[in-house]
Amino acid sequence: MNHLKITNLSKTYPNGVKALQNISLDIPIGMFGLLGPNGAGKSTLMRTIATLQEPDVGTIEFGGLNTTENKMEIRKILGYLPQQYGLYPKVSAEVLLNHLAVLKGLTHKQARKEMVAALLQKTNLYQVRKQNLGGFSGGMKQRFGIAQALLTNPKLLIVDEPTAGLDPGERNRFYNILSEISEQTVVILSSHIVDDIQELCTNMAIIHQGQVVLSGKPLTFLEDLKGKVYQKTILKEERSNYYQSYQVISEKLFLGNPVINILSETPPGNGFTPILANLEDVYFSHIEKNKQD
Ligand code: ADP
Repeated sequence: MNHLKITNLSKTYPNGVKALQNISLDIPIGMFGLLGPNGAGKSTLMRTIATLQEPDVGTIEFGGLNTTENKMEIRKILGYLPQQYGLYPKVSAEVLLNHLAVLKGLTHKQARKEMVAALLQKTNLYQVRKQNLGGFSGGMKQRFGIAQALLTNPKLLIVDEPTAGLDPGERNRFYNILSEISEQTVVILSSHIVDDIQELCTNMAIIHQGQVVLSGKPLTFLEDLKGKVYQKTILKEERSNYYQSYQVISEKLFLGNPVINILSETPPGNGFTPILANLEDVYFSHIEKNKQD
């Protein structure tokens, strides 16, 4: 069974930062979103799952194999796209992918050629395969990253903040590729962007300060907030009064005035109107709650 099980994972860096605190998650096949602000511990968790660093405490199992005790086996079935990685700028996509395929042990020339061509097709890079990577846009580079991560036909694919710097069109293309892969693969996607998770993931967790503050299905979370989120445009000078009187979960500016969303079990009156909760409300309500606790 291809299933990732994380149990009681903790990691404290030598400088004392508690990057992971007793994290437990069950991650099935499909797209799993890891949502959290910068510094929440997402990259630490992903590097640990990718066997690049070890936890102080806790275990990770994939398909029943303990990842720390079976690093080599896990690496054979793992695809990892880190947040930042270097590409050789003066080499074409096709040449580099072919080279990486050799390094990954695809020694049979014909099979390798077919694999490289198929991956370039899959990531919509076939037309530009002869171009040097140095001239690729951010989106093309990310798609190349996915192509190289798929060389091993991974059963577990980890992508860390993949949409940073992508324009909306590129972001969509990238999502479509991931979505197709996730039909047969455990795909873990980290992001601090709520929309990334909302559009793609069937399961998710919110992490904050190294802890899981919520995990489950986005649809369930939205259901839980139904009828509890209210909105009002207020004046700047009234802000602090509202923050004292209501459980404010987020604030945006509209034409220079603050628009606040609040959480309330009963209709608050006072000019607030009920709104349909979105994942951003879920996210902020839990991050705020966690801060207050
Ligand atoms: P995220 O990916 O959610 O932004 P990270 O896992 O990168 O979070 O970081 C979690 C916390 O651990 C942050 O406070 C960060 O500064 C700290 N951290 C990350 N890597 C190291 C490291 N190698 N040494 C010390 N502290 C680190």
